[in-house]
Amino acid sequence: MSPENASPDSVVIVGAGQAGSDTAAALRSRGYAGPVTLIGAEDAVPYQRPPLSKGYLTGAVGRSEVELRPDSFYTTQGIDFVCDDRAVAIDRAARTVTLASGAELSYGALVLATGARPRRIATPGAGLDGVLALRSLADADVLRDHLDRAGHVLVIGGGFIGLEIAATTRARGCEVTVVEAAPRVMGRAVSEPMAEYLTGAHRKEGTRVLLGRSVSALQGDPAGRVRAAQLDDGHRTPADLVVIGVGVLPNTALAAEAGLAVGDGILVDSGLSTSDPHIYAIGDCARFPYGDGMVRLESVQNASDQARHVAARLAGGDPGPYTAVPWFWTDQYTVKLQIAGLTAGHDRAVVAGDPGSGRFTVFCFAGSRLLGAESVNRTADHVITRRLLAAGHTGLTPDVVAQPGFDLKTYQRQPA
Ligand code: FAD
Repeated sequence: MSPENASPDSVVIVGAGQAGSDTAAALRSRGYAGPVTLIGAEDAVPYQRPPLSKGYLTGAVGRSEVELRPDSFYTTQGIDFVCDDRAVAIDRAARTVTLASGAELSYGALVLATGARPRRIATPGAGLDGVLALRSLADADVLRDHLDRAGHVLVIGGGFIGLEIAATTRARGCEVTVVEAAPRVMGRAVSEPMAEYLTGAHRKEGTRVLLGRSVSALQGDPAGRVRAAQLDDGHRTPADLVVIGVGVLPNTALAAEAGLAVGDGILVDSGLSTSDPHIYAIGDCARFPYGDGMVRLESVQNASDQARHVAARLAGGDPGPYTAVPWFWTDQYTVKLQIAGLTAGHDRAVVAGDPGSGRFTVFCFAGSRLLGAESVNRTADHVITRRLLAAGHTGLTPDVVAQPGFDLKTYQRQPA
């Protein structure tokens, strides 16, 4: 981190999602007094995405409740919030950003918080009316509108968002089928025992979960509305609403065109600086050092913690390297799954508690080192694991956790 970057004369933030809005807010709460401009491509006040597949879809959560901060916040905090406009070019030598509207903004420091967009599928029929993806509030409004008329929902992809949409639409009384090409759901994100548990939870609620299968074509009626899906095993399933949940791609084009280093995300160092020391990248669009490698995470925790980290730096502090422990959550039916750490790459998963009771934790290890814990309706395990991981030495081993009646709350009270 160069001293000239310590407190820039102005900050421009591209992307008014969780990471962008939190950066602007954290800059002010840390006393940064220079001009702050927040540019958002969407025609909306920055909002939270998690409710879009949960309460907002059922109608339990209203529009104003998803807003991260009221519109007036930006005015009162002296944050210049430019919405419905898009940054289209960065001139790194001149330190300016050009917007689609033609406006040109100078920056002392630039924060890229451009998020991610849904991955598309090339399946025949993917362009039919009623084939949707969910990323934005506008997408959620369209989905809600279709849901009012849908009887059979097909979800392509058994990841976090696909399964949440399956749970929400099933709870609304739709017939729901999930088609997942991998042999298990949430393959990237959770352990085998947890994937099995979730599959069982969905099936118990009456959702059809088809594993190791794919959709070979979507079929429509003469009006161009989706009506059915042809599966790769020859079966046909009715579908008057199809939601594609096959993951996201980071929005890196702006950075790449400016010559910044990218590769499944905008590459940043442990201070969240890109290959240009005046430009930072955070949230879903950023790939950063974690453990022995680099990761790109898609979570509110990651977006918010990285926002606060960069803001602390830009406000003149020295927060050191970014080392926050990742955590995630998902709500599906009555299952509240909370994940502390990154469990991918584990070679041993030890279950504590009884999955049959709907309250248990899977502790995931690489050798004897705890990588993380996946807790269902056991918030205490989640919170304690986060604390232990943050401390850097958990003391937990597979043998300790595998002891009959192991309880993390009791364990952590024991003297080291
Ligand atoms: P985003 O929120 O995607 O914001 C990026 C913004 O930048 C967008 O508004 C985009 O339009 C804008 N933008 C892009 N390019 C430009 C440009 N050139 N100029 C101007 N603006 C631009 N996470 C959890 O932890 N728990 C959950 O339960 C959970 N549920 C989710 C449910 C859904 C339906 C979705 C879609 C996501 C969910 N997530 C969840 C993920 C979480 O919402 C994201 O990780 C988080 O929003 C990332 O924040 P971000 O600011 O990096 O990106």
